[in-house]
Amino acid sequence: MSMDTIPKDLRGLRACLVCSLIKTFDQFEYDGCDNCDEFLRMKNNRDNVYDCTSSNFDGMIAAMSPEDSWVCKWQRINRFTKGVYAISVSGRLPPGVVREMKSRGIVYRPRDTSQR
Ligand SMILES: [Zn+2]
Repeated sequence: MSMDTIPKDLRGLRACLVCSLIKTFDQFEYDGCDNCDEFLRMKNNRDNVYDCTSSNFDGMIAAMSPEDSWVCKWQRINRFTKGVYAISVSGRLPPGVVREMKSRGIVYRPRDTSQR
């Protein structure tokens, strides 16, 4: 397993608003999101990291083998890369990014499950 997908520090952690992957700000800036960078383009773009990730999240799941975990299926992360994921992420994706996803045929489901 690549160690780049798990947080290297417990400070400055942020969770991706689209897939809820948790990494440090620096890791998002350096590598982008391992699942979503194709359309979020956070790599080397601090503004996009601020817009598309949130420091306000609850719960953590370490997914070692997401494709055959019922927890990951429940969280809809079973098709994503191995890593640490948040259970709920607060924050809103900028409308422009949601449109971009839509044009690629990706449905954006907010990761905020804290109030409902
Ligand atoms: Zn992501």
